[in-house]
Amino acid sequence: MIDVKSLGKCDLHMHTVYCDGKSTPEEMVLSAIEKGLDTVGVAAHSYLAKDSECYIQQEDVPRFQAEVNALKIKYADKIRVLCGIEQEYFSETSTNGFDYVIGSLHYFNVDGEIYSVDLDEETFLDRINTQFKGDFYSAAENYYQTLADVVEKTGADIIGHFDLVTKYNDGDKYFDTKHPRYVNAYKKALAKLIKTGKPFEINTGVISRGYRKQPYPSSDIIKEIKAMGGTLILSSDSHHEKNVAYQFDIWQKLL
Ligand SMILES: [Zn+2]
Ligand SMILES: [Zn+2]
Repeated sequence: MIDVKSLGKCDLHMHTVYCDGKSTPEEMVLSAIEKGLDTVGVAAHSYLAKDSECYIQQEDVPRFQAEVNALKIKYADKIRVLCGIEQEYFSETSTNGFDYVIGSLHYFNVDGEIYSVDLDEETFLDRINTQFKGDFYSAAENYYQTLADVVEKTGADIIGHFDLVTKYNDGDKYFDTKHPRYVNAYKKALAKLIKTGKPFEINTGVISRGYRKQPYPSSDIIKEIKAMGGTLILSSDSHHEKNVAYQFDIWQKLL
């Protein structure tokens, strides 16, 4: 459990070679120091049998925690280091030994069977066609309905990439994000999640990886979060040291 307000300038969402990232935990910490952060959270993505090559393997968790904990001491005079876990809604793994939890959902749940939302665009479209008869709004409703419980399910301190379901929808390419069905779906999830008091990420990873020009969530959703009394925190979701705190100077204004 962490109080994000006490962390100063921070980036708590990043992945390393323990998942599908390209840099080591130490390289991420050094980059965070160079960028002048007060706190860096080196995170791993919780294990799930599905798409498991993208996630930390269960047997690597103790080594990952020990490595990040050693960095806390090594760089104590330069930066505060935390060890985090991005806990997928459908992971059943423990979050013990981590300093904080980012609660994220990456799957549709159709009758107990889960289907990736963000693996790649082709897979995403295939899911929409086969599981939702081509109805993007029905897919979005499915996503937000599950997401509404992400804090309860994962024990999250931070809510990850709230509108991940729009990853391939830059410029409303596939569906209208002002459509009443879409708006109602996310508002219902927001209403439930805001009651938890946990901050929502402004996640710039989707920009650094070239999928969107705006971070998650959309500016409409950010406005709604603020109107409902919710809070926000910047995160990079970086998979490479060069993207730690990516475009934080630009998106700071959204806070
Ligand atoms: Zn994620
Ligand atoms: Zn992530």
